Amino acid sequence: MSYVLCLTSEKMHFYSTKRKSPNTDLKEAVLRGLPQDNGLYMPELIRSMPDGFFDSIDQLSFPEMSYQLAKHLLNGTIADEALKEIVYGAVNFDAPIVHLDKQYKVLELFHGPSLAFKDFGARFMARIMGHFAKTSGKTLYILVATSGDTGGAVASGFLGTPGIEVVILYPKGKVSLLQEKQLTTLGQNIQALEVEGTFDDCQRMVKSAFLDKKLRKKFNISSANSINLARLIPQAFYYINTFAQLKKAGRPLVFSVPSGNFGNITAGLIAHKMGLPVERFVAASNSNDVFTTYRDTGVFLPKTSVRTHSNAMDVGNPSNLQRIQDLYGNEVANIREDIIAHSFNDEQTLGAMKEVHQKYDYVMCPHTAVGYLGMKTYFEQNPESDAQGVILATAHPSKFLDIVEPTLKIKVDIPERLNCLRDRKKVATEVKPEYSELKAYLESL
Ligand SMILES: *Cc1c(COP(=O)(O)O)cnc(C)c1O
Repeated sequence: MSYVLCLTSEKMHFYSTKRKSPNTDLKEAVLRGLPQDNGLYMPELIRSMPDGFFDSIDQLSFPEMSYQLAKHLLNGTIADEALKEIVYGAVNFDAPIVHLDKQYKVLELFHGPSLAFKDFGARFMARIMGHFAKTSGKTLYILVATSGDTGGAVASGFLGTPGIEVVILYPKGKVSLLQEKQLTTLGQNIQALEVEGTFDDCQRMVKSAFLDKKLRKKFNISSANSINLARLIPQAFYYINTFAQLKKAGRPLVFSVPSGNFGNITAGLIAHKMGLPVERFVAASNSNDVFTTYRDTGVFLPKTSVRTHSNAMDVGNPSNLQRIQDLYGNEVANIREDIIAHSFNDEQTLGAMKEVHQKYDYVMCPHTAVGYLGMKTYFEQNPESDAQGVILATAHPSKFLDIVEPTLKIKVDIPERLNCLRDRKKVATEVKPEYSELKAYLESL
């Protein structure tokens, strides 16, 4: 009996890492987001790209390469023409590499609309969801609670997607001016609710909506959660595009990934499984060091997160650990072979920002600086390595002006695509932190 052969001739299915929920198709995995057993969805089979793909990869454009990877990974789940449109629409900005020197390279993932790598995931997820909403014929409502950052990527990702209405809940007075503008000025199918409360209130209100069976009968609702598989998949593309750009040097690659919820590095591991040659991954984290401890000791102890300067990585219980463990047969010894882990405190992070600025005249955001430290430690511990060290730059430094400017004593320009929102008029509906207010709002739409 060959189960594998059966699988390859059929559409790709997705299983839960906890294996207590039934396998599903892509539509359900994406629209549901989380399996009922609280695991995370993974593709049933991650096959290597066909022979020759990596040999001639440098002849493909970034969107074309991404399309071929998506087609291979999703294996007939979405018709070719539709998938091509989805991928070309999502991957419509570049991920250039800056060569600091022979060893250190920076992969700039912040050239999308919200200036962070999360744009890749948000844009792809929006288009996949739009595709399924179109075939269902019923408006799909996406409810998002945000503390600021994710909301911007999600809002611009979904902007103008037919069949989808996005409702963003954010805590009044607790997001920065530009973050608020990203949530409240786009118009079209993006609505903002300014909640007189905290981020936790916003999250609770969204959760209540999902638990409200009556409401769900009336409305087709879904979330744009960060652990949605559709956000992970497109992140594998830029690792492989990096290989295409650096291949001609003929030296192996090490990726250092500033990590919080460990989605970004998981995407790299998926790319590796699809055949991308990688010498090592470095999981670089801030003082929230549960993964580093896990890798070193084999014991995983979630903690309450602590606040740091790289606050998008302040995660005390990284949800994607389940996916990593699953990819490595739940053996920490296997994980250790591919992934090194290091953690750095705020003082070290600011020191790294200064060092990189002095040495290379390059400005890093605090998250990227943690990635730099991870890479530096790797080279110190592996002096014989001839690798090209690729640091993933996860956000543009202008997103963290309050840290970058005083640390480096410079003025950082805000890219026009963000700065132009400054003069736009904010449109938001103020609500009390009660579920009944969210419900009334949805019913009024
Ligand atoms: C989200 C985020 C991270 C962490 O990425 P994970 O996929 O959660 O590990 C790092 N840097 C920035 C700027 C982010 O926004």
